[in-house]
This record gives sequence, C-alpha cells and structure tokens, in this order.
Amino acid sequence: MVKMKDQIEQGLESIANTYGRFPICFESGEGLYLKDTEGKVYLDFVAGIAVNALGHGDKQYAEVLKNQAASLVHVSNLYWNAQNIKLAQTLTSISGLDKAFFCNSGAEANEAALKFARLYGADEKFEIITMSNSFHGRTMGALALTGQTKYQASFAPLLPGVKYVPFNDSEALKNAIGDQTVAVMVEVIQGEGGIVEITPEFAETISKLCLEKDLLLIVDEVQTGIGRTGQYFGYQNYGLKPDVVSCAKGLGGGFPIGATLVSGKVAQKLTPSCHASTFGGTALASAAANYVLDEIESRKLLDNVNQMGRYLQEQLLILQNQFDVIKAIKGKGLIQGIEIVEALPTGKIVNGAMAKGLLLVGAGHQVIRFVPPLIVAQKHIDEMIGILKSVLEDLSSNK
Ligand SMILES: *Cc1c(COP(=O)(O)O)cnc(C)c1O
Repeated sequence: MVKMKDQIEQGLESIANTYGRFPICFESGEGLYLKDTEGKVYLDFVAGIAVNALGHGDKQYAEVLKNQAASLVHVSNLYWNAQNIKLAQTLTSISGLDKAFFCNSGAEANEAALKFARLYGADEKFEIITMSNSFHGRTMGALALTGQTKYQASFAPLLPGVKYVPFNDSEALKNAIGDQTVAVMVEVIQGEGGIVEITPEFAETISKLCLEKDLLLIVDEVQTGIGRTGQYFGYQNYGLKPDVVSCAKGLGGGFPIGATLVSGKVAQKLTPSCHASTFGGTALASAAANYVLDEIESRKLLDNVNQMGRYLQEQLLILQNQFDVIKAIKGKGLIQGIEIVEALPTGKIVNGAMAKGLLLVGAGHQVIRFVPPLIVAQKHIDEMIGILKSVLEDLSSNK
C-alpha cells in the first residue's frame, strides 16, 4: 500500500506552497464520508468548503458527467450549447434575475460583477462599497473587494475605487456613499469572515439606499447560494432584491463553474465582448450544474437544509449549554458556526476532530464552521456532535 507520508512528501516537493494543508491525502468518498489513501474514514462537515452539495461518490452524477463527456465537452462561446441554455433558464428562474454570465470560480464571478458595475456606472460612477471582513476571492479585482487586509498585504497597489464599511453599520454605509458610488456589495452571511449574518435593519437600509441613489446591489452568493441557507439564494431570506448575484461553490457539485446573474437594467449595458471566458459555461460544466439543480428540486433538498439546519442548531445549543468554551452559535441552514472563547485556539478543535475522524474548518476569528453536503441526515449530525463533544471534553476543564 502507498504510504500517505510519502505521497505528501512528493506533494510538498512538486506543488506550489500556497496552502497550509492538513497531512491527509484523500482517495475516495461516499455520501458524507471520505477515505484517505491509507483507508482511514472521515465524516465530512467541510464538503470541500461548501462545494460538494450532493456529497461524494454520487453514481448518477458520475453517469451524467460520463455521458456528457462522451458527447460534448466544450465548443467555445462562439456558439451555443443546450446544457448552458438550460442552466441559464434555471438560474434566472430560481433567482428572479434576468440574465446569466458564466465563468469557472467564485473570484471570476465577482470579477464579472465588478466589470458589470463599472459598465453600469459608465465612467461617471465607479466606486464600489464593500464590507469589512468580507471575502470575495483572490484575483486582483476580487482581492480589492475583499475587506480584509490580511489577504491584501504584499499585493499593493490594489485596484482603486473600493471603499470598506463595517458590516451591519447603517450609519457608516450612509456616510460612505458619494457621487461616484455605483454599487454596494455584501455577503448575506459572511462565510470566511466568521459566519456573520446580515441584520434585518442593515438589509433594509441597503435596499432603501440602493433604490434612492440608483446604486447596484451586488450580493456575493458564492458560499451561501444554491440552497445552502435553505433558500436557493441567501438574499431570499432577507427580502433583498439584488441587481447582481455571483455564485460558484455549490453550483457544480464539485465541478468548477461560476455564474454572475444580473437584472434587466444591468443586462441592458452588456454587449458582445465586454466580458468573456473561454471555459465559461461549457457543456460539461453546465451538465454538472443542471444535475445538481435537478437533484435539489427532485430530492426536496431545500426542505432537508431547513430541517437539518434547525436540528444542527438545536444540537449545537445543547452543546453550548454543556461547554463554556462555546460563546455563540451563528448562521442558518447548513452554513452555521460556533464561536469559541479566546483561550481555546480553534485549531486545537479542528485537529482534535480530525484525529477522531471528523473534518471541520475554521472561519474568521475563533469560529468553527459547519458546511456539510446538502444531503446531510440526522444520523450524520448526531455523529458529528458526538465527536465534537468528545473533543471538547478532551480540551476543556469544565466537563
Ligand atoms: C469562496 C468564496 C469566494 C471565492 O471563490 P473561489 O472559487 O475560491 O474563487 C468568493 N466569495 C465568497 C463569499 C466565497 O465564499
């Protein structure tokens, strides 16, 4: 049998050092479970960071990809492909937006949003207001939109024309809007920022200000979109009417695809060659996304997200009553988190869980995030809570 240690050694020698990786090399998966190359099994509450909507090893998904690959993979956006047209119809229908632009990742979906906002501003208005602690991706445009200096250090000068305001601070937002402001951009639940939910008051302020001052509302649904909050898109929980919506992570169920959805007034400004992506919306990527969206519908996964989201929250509350180290429970649906007191580094919890066969991921400052596949069942949540409880017992004195 291959030694995982040797594989990782080879990886360290040949793959660029841009990730701090855990020392596990995965080989296969089924449902909520992953198996490493030495046969150890893990319960997956990370789902490739909110990506594997249908879990691992879905046989029908494999069949769809296999059949599509055998007939048509890619034809360039010089032409149409039927899978992509079908996907655009579904996305516009579930979002209430008018048109879809396709790309391959979350950062790219936000790059498109940025360019569309600039087009809408027509050289007169160009400034975009985003939130501190937001996360919009790592390419230079998306990085400028991201309100976290820790990701931006060493990459100056950043794209100009971006202003940051504290998330959920209506006064600061009002004060930041100027003559050159064209758009306000938010995540309705900040993911990387630490599972921070928009307040109803802030959602209302944004809606009002965008309407009053003809600003575009851009919602980054890369993490919250495609069912994760219990609605198709997170903004649907908060009565927001965005003009631009970016999505990616869960859309292809693991196959890379991103989309930027726009309302009529933005769509109007778009003309051939104002933006493009060679791989945007290939037949293969679109077939993957069509399958994911069909399954969400036919398996009633939004209902599952709502039910399991409530159950997860109840179980986390019980855990919070047992352990003082849990300060707060955050988020909704299948994007939730627990905030841990300063004295206990979250890395210890993540590592402790991993040793016991549970995958968890941190978010922001002192938050552990739960973003399992949308097919998660009660027994998986029970198993996760059981392991987490035993890790917390090991780590804390107040048993
Ligand atoms: C992950 C994420 C991105 C970046 O997506 P990539 O596919 O990694 O480029 C952007 N915005 C949000 C909210 C995300 O969670």
